[in-house]
Amino acid sequence: MQKGQISVQTENIFPIIKQFLYSDQEIFLRELVSNAVDATTKLKALASKGIFKGELGDMTIEIILDSENKTLTIRDKGIGMTSAEVEKYLNQVAFSSAQEFLEKYKNEAIIGHFGLGFYSAFMVADKVEVVTKTYKKTVKAAKWTCNGDTEYTLEESSKKERGTDIILHISEDSKEYLEEGRIQTLLSKYCKFLPVEIKFGTKKETIYEGEGDDKEAKEIEVDNIINNPNPAWKKQPRSLKDEDYKQFYNELYPYSTPPLFWIHLNIDFPFNLTGILYFPKLNNNLEVQKNKIQLYSNQVYVTDDVKEIVPEFLTLLHGVIDSPDIPLNVSRSYLQSDQNVKKITGYITKKVAEKLAKLFKKDREEFESKWKDLGVFIKYGMLSEEKFHEKALKFALLKNTEGKFFTIDEYKEQIKANQTDKHEKIIMIYSNNLAEHDSFIASAKNYGYDVLEFDTVIDNHFMQHLEYKTEGITFVRVDSDIVSNLVQKDEEQESVLSEKEQEKIKALFESKINQPGTSISLKPLSPDDQPVVITRPEFMRRMKEMQALQGMQSDAFPDSYNVVINTNHSLVAEKLLKMRSEEKKEEFVTHLYNLALLNQGMLKGAELTSFINKSIEFLK
Ligand code: ADP
Repeated sequence: MQKGQISVQTENIFPIIKQFLYSDQEIFLRELVSNAVDATTKLKALASKGIFKGELGDMTIEIILDSENKTLTIRDKGIGMTSAEVEKYLNQVAFSSAQEFLEKYKNEAIIGHFGLGFYSAFMVADKVEVVTKTYKKTVKAAKWTCNGDTEYTLEESSKKERGTDIILHISEDSKEYLEEGRIQTLLSKYCKFLPVEIKFGTKKETIYEGEGDDKEAKEIEVDNIINNPNPAWKKQPRSLKDEDYKQFYNELYPYSTPPLFWIHLNIDFPFNLTGILYFPKLNNNLEVQKNKIQLYSNQVYVTDDVKEIVPEFLTLLHGVIDSPDIPLNVSRSYLQSDQNVKKITGYITKKVAEKLAKLFKKDREEFESKWKDLGVFIKYGMLSEEKFHEKALKFALLKNTEGKFFTIDEYKEQIKANQTDKHEKIIMIYSNNLAEHDSFIASAKNYGYDVLEFDTVIDNHFMQHLEYKTEGITFVRVDSDIVSNLVQKDEEQESVLSEKEQEKIKALFESKINQPGTSISLKPLSPDDQPVVITRPEFMRRMKEMQALQGMQSDAFPDSYNVVINTNHSLVAEKLLKMRSEEKKEEFVTHLYNLALLNQGMLKGAELTSFINKSIEFLK
């Protein structure tokens, strides 16, 4: 038996390995199983080159849990190592790279902690044995043992089968890794799509024997293969049907609502990247997604926290990205400035935009029917990515209150044709609450104006974004002014009242309405419009909304309302003017004002109760 010192360096890295980001200890299993996969693929490669001439046989990797002896074994039938190779690869290469890794990243967050390698075993084991027999026929097997300090032993072993057993003697404080359920969970998280079959114990399966009436259910024990070595994203898009994509989605996220559509990414120059991105049903929702994009490197799971790799709006998508060209053993902050990653980000954004443009062109009706789910995503993308904004102008849609869709250019043209030259900008009228703005929308339509529906959380920002980005358009909410002021027409209504009569009316209302921030004015509207209308000026309202978003106190900016009295309405122009009793007049004015408040959803509490009681009185 040979004894040795792993490194001549004095510092013992084992305590550091043990502590290395405690929360991510579990990656040890991924590191060891991917080593086993590498050893297996290496031997397959040697065989295909004719260097290895023996039988490959069954190459399944096995994970063996022995809770009695407190060991977890990772067994492969790959190339194995000679004792000289053990010396070289485990004592020198693996050790110094683990040491280098830890020195570099002790205090930094690394994507998925890729690269710690073999020595990550010591995060959970206080003793590790490696029993290995090389594929080279005449060479004896070797056994390496290390107790988690810098000393090791290397001796001959009687192992007959080719390949490597990594035997972890699980330490007392890592007992969780002796639980079957825990290991099963880890395997399905990290190894679900590794390219070599991985077996973890057995499971029961029901099979049916016989035909017709003789058919019998039988329970049998079968190998529990935890992975799908040939996942959809690795296949040629041509060879896959819609069903295959949906089924794979289900494999990734069991029991989820099926996706809308998908993009198969497949590129090998100037970088290597495969994957499938799915568009989920978002339903006007921007809430945090539970199905996240998963990042793989050569089918090894790395992380589902991909915000450094894809633009933020794309994190709304689901699916898989697999690229060995994403440098994973670097810090997160470095990753964002990495040129390769920038190219990858750009490529994915471009692909997504192209797919959407294609769908829009191919079947606009279908595209419109999916707008409820796509809209949020596209708007978010336009807001956050300049490049996406430009591409999306072709297929981003505006919807009017009648449910008709327009591209921004189409809508611009339509409005322009209807508006006089009086305005510098094209004015687009919108509502963010059809139910609350019903009477305003009706008035606008009466005037021949179209009203857009902006009803998602993101629309407020989107609207301002479009105003900023698109030359010559401005948005006004349908209740921001009286309808004839929203877009001014050339012809103005004339008032049927004399100046004196108007003054009288104004004084009457002023004596009853004295709210701060409320201004009262008279306007000769159409006799069909309501007698009193309350509007909320666009600019002041937006300021207030912005304030609220920033969490400022809402009274820092006063509410601002305009009360407009329609001097052409018969209730004002005739009935009110003709009234004799002062008391009646005041009652009448209050009632008209309350109606306007009610229409804006502003009549509340005692005023509302008294208004309802008055209305009942009137009916008696
Ligand atoms: P990496 O896998 O990144 O090279 P590791 O520290 O995980 O680093 O492993 C170091 C080396 O040890 C590997 O490159 C390989 O040569 C050897 N090795 C590790 N595990 C096995 C195994 N199961 N079979 C054969 N060789 C292995």
